[in-house]
Amino acid sequence: MKKVGVFVCHCGHNIGGTVDIPEVVKRIGEYPGVEHCEDHKYMCSEPGQSLIRERIKEKGLARVVVACCSPSLHEETFRRAAENTGLNRYLLEIANIREQCSWVHADKAEATRKAITLIKTIIEKTLLNDTLDPPTIPVVPRAMVIGAGIAGIQAALDIANSGYEVVLVEKSPSIGGHMAQLSETFPTLDCSQCILTPRMVEVGRHENIDLYTYSEVDEIGGSAGDFKVKIRKKPRSVDVTKCTGCGDCFEKCPSKVPSQFDCGLVERKAIYVPFPQAVPNKPVIDRDNCIYFKNGKCGVCKQVCETGAIDYDQVEEIIEEEVGAVIVATGYELYPIRKIPEYGGGRYEDLVNGLQFERLLSASGPTQGEIRRPSDGAIPKRVAFISCVGSRDPEHHMSYCSKICCMYMAKHALLYKNHVPDGEAIVFSIDVRTSSKDYEEFFTRAKDEAGVIYIRGKPSRIIERDNKLEIWAVNTLNGKHLRLDCDMVVLSMAMVPSDDAIGIAKKLRIPTNAHGFFSEVHPKLRPVESLVRGFYMAGCSQAPKDIPECVAQGSAAAAKVLEMFSKKELVTEPFVAYVDTDLCVACKTCINACPYDAREFDEEKKVVLVNEALCQGCGSCVVACAAGATQQKNLADKQISRMVEVIFDE
Ligand SMILES: Cc1cc2nc3c(=O)[nH]c(=O)nc-3n(C[C@H](O)[C@H](O)[C@H](O)COP(=O)(O)OP(=O)(O)OC[C@H]3O[C@@H](n4cnc5c(N)ncnc54)[C@H](O)[C@@H]3O)c2cc1C
Repeated sequence: MKKVGVFVCHCGHNIGGTVDIPEVVKRIGEYPGVEHCEDHKYMCSEPGQSLIRERIKEKGLARVVVACCSPSLHEETFRRAAENTGLNRYLLEIANIREQCSWVHADKAEATRKAITLIKTIIEKTLLNDTLDPPTIPVVPRAMVIGAGIAGIQAALDIANSGYEVVLVEKSPSIGGHMAQLSETFPTLDCSQCILTPRMVEVGRHENIDLYTYSEVDEIGGSAGDFKVKIRKKPRSVDVTKCTGCGDCFEKCPSKVPSQFDCGLVERKAIYVPFPQAVPNKPVIDRDNCIYFKNGKCGVCKQVCETGAIDYDQVEEIIEEEVGAVIVATGYELYPIRKIPEYGGGRYEDLVNGLQFERLLSASGPTQGEIRRPSDGAIPKRVAFISCVGSRDPEHHMSYCSKICCMYMAKHALLYKNHVPDGEAIVFSIDVRTSSKDYEEFFTRAKDEAGVIYIRGKPSRIIERDNKLEIWAVNTLNGKHLRLDCDMVVLSMAMVPSDDAIGIAKKLRIPTNAHGFFSEVHPKLRPVESLVRGFYMAGCSQAPKDIPECVAQGSAAAAKVLEMFSKKELVTEPFVAYVDTDLCVACKTCINACPYDAREFDEEKKVVLVNEALCQGCGSCVVACAAGATQQKNLADKQISRMVEVIFDE
């Protein structure tokens, strides 16, 4: 009989507060095959780990179960400890009695009973585990960054400056993301373009960065260390090698549509450069709105282009790349005003979102930095700023705090007062959150020095009447009802993940939270690593954040990628599928079931084989195989059956 050792962690009060640990130790100690059972306050601490090492040697343990937190947190810690004693690391398993037990139960007796059952199931599984050798794969020292806002730019530059090649994929015609749209930035009020554009230029010129703008990731295969990527490059309809950027084409283009960059406040042409500092600074034809592409008429841009750069025949290209690691930095969007019917649902021209107000504040914006009402161009003399629109509203919209709105509202109000000194700036907020370096001082400056008025309370309605926007609210500090006529209203809309974040998550097969923000392995200890190895995240694709945080996270993700590139080979998990060829009936169902293309049919032997380098051990094939020929290493049918039997025996 193989000797099993079980080590039960209290995790302070996390487990010990709900589960009766002495009772667990007693009951498990009596279980057949258990040679030793012991508890510790913090098993992951050095004393806890050395206790495991000592007992393995002392008692000659052949199998080890640690009953503690989720394996995603400390499985590696404990497997390394076991390995130090000479035990094969895959003969140690975790019984998760924290996330799957103590954290989800309040009744101590029930939680204790469940913890005991969970541990017993894992003991049975571990007894049937095989000794495995982790395979290694060579690392391709080349990274891909998806999304070229400030977070993606920072990550790409850090990796490229360390001497490694980067493939940077941006879906828009230019890099820069939302930061390029901002006027001045809190808390220092330096001009956004002035700090961003030098970095954009550096990206465009960097010898280690292959920049694909107007492009998206189409497909990704392979695994950490060696991903195979297909990038779909949309046709610009302009030969960028011939284009001199003279601008004749867009000056003469007769077709006009709302400009995305200026948030619909002005129009752009169908052939356009998104903004003057764009990288690459070459135009693109928006085929959906181009007269030539719609009905074959026009062709003005081609006629006026002296270098013959206009190329209507350009076609979509699929580019294949091989990379070892992927950073996702796809950023955010603002929750649409049309979803807020009580504020007009997008019908009022002078009610704008924060990014529209940034464009009005910007010296290179549609009004050259003068604050003017979109409806009639008048200078607004009373502007209201409303916070938490769509955020912190679990009943109707998003439950979370968008984190940066309090700060940019203070900035907006302060800059408005600078532009219109005799104007009135009124901020409506539930409360004010300013928790970063120099942020509270910035807020105080807006409130006390610039004379911005803060009212506590969230308006219930806004009605357009007599060329004014009438706000209905209650000041929750004194209980007074207010009706306030304003010339303009700026809404701090919730920050939500970019439109196609869910699509990207599906393509990359990485998880998101309920709102569509990418999930990290651990919010405190591994904040930039995805749950799927080889994928990292940066910026607002993970959660709302400000520029300093996006930059820090971009650098952090880059550091993680560089850590991977410092190794020539990557040790991977051996829990792949295998086929018992004697049982395989060649039905090929598993080939279709495999989402990783890790199965191939051997025509000669008439059996299906597994490509271990591609297999991610997801188990889809095991479920699909009616013949029971496909099994997963250390998670075979017989192991699962034993675990289920234990539950029924209890
Ligand atoms: C009104 C307002 C004012 C603000 N003012 C300030 C301020 O003063 N100071 C401050 O610190 N912060 C400010 N911020 C926050 C700041 O905008 C963000 O912190 C920062 O821009 C986020 O950068 P990012 O790279 O994470 O995302 P983004 O800027 O959103 O960039 C993401 C990029 O990814 C691209 N992308 C998306 N999906 C794909 C895909 N599938 N494939 C390829 N590319 C893709 C996008 O096109 C975009 O270029 C403000 C925000 C708002 C809304």
